[in-house]
Amino acid sequence: MRLWCASSNPGKLAEFRLALDTFGHGRYPVEPLPGINLLAPPEETGSTFEENAAAKALYYGGHGSGLLFADDSGLEVDALGGAPGVHSARFAGPGATDADNNRLLLERLRGVGCRAARFVCVVALVEDGRLLGTFRGSVEGRILEAPRGSNGFGYDPLFFYPPFGCTLAEASREQKLQVSHRGNALAAMIRHLATIRPGGRE
Ligand code: IMP
Repeated sequence: MRLWCASSNPGKLAEFRLALDTFGHGRYPVEPLPGINLLAPPEETGSTFEENAAAKALYYGGHGSGLLFADDSGLEVDALGGAPGVHSARFAGPGATDADNNRLLLERLRGVGCRAARFVCVVALVEDGRLLGTFRGSVEGRILEAPRGSNGFGYDPLFFYPPFGCTLAEASREQKLQVSHRGNALAAMIRHLATIRPGGRE
């Protein structure tokens, strides 16, 4: 049962593929929505991950048929009142790179002792333009004072995950998937798909 994915972010796509393969036992091949790069991305105006994920899925779902999912994700830092949150991708401004965002995060946390943080991911699933559900996952950790590791993407090099004793950029993609916000959200979506399409029927 093929799933279209409304993302062209290579870091996310690699994690989506691995998650669907691992948790879906190969029953859910995933492809980026054809022509997604030619579509103007919708504005992310929601104040929650759920609102943004649902808006993205409904928007991109209107450009194709069948099952499609979109995600909205980000980093919540307690000492920053939950920021950057839904603004994680553009924390350092429009067009910000991962390096810009990480630099700004370290600047904002300079001298701050409490560095608890979590990654959150919400996946929204639509079929033929109808929202079937949203699925949330999260992972708790803390922000280091300098980056470590080169795997993953985004804020991974600053996100220390205590049970592993390393950052998510030092963990392998497979290790990250087992505990990550994205892995948890996708596993929940797959459990839901299995209840509405037992056996992976089209
Ligand atoms: P969006 O979901 O495309 O709006 O962007 C989410 C942003 O949050 C990404 O660009 C990253 O900066 C950050 N982010 C989300 N998930 C992860 C992750 O697994 N690792 C590191 N950064 C992440």
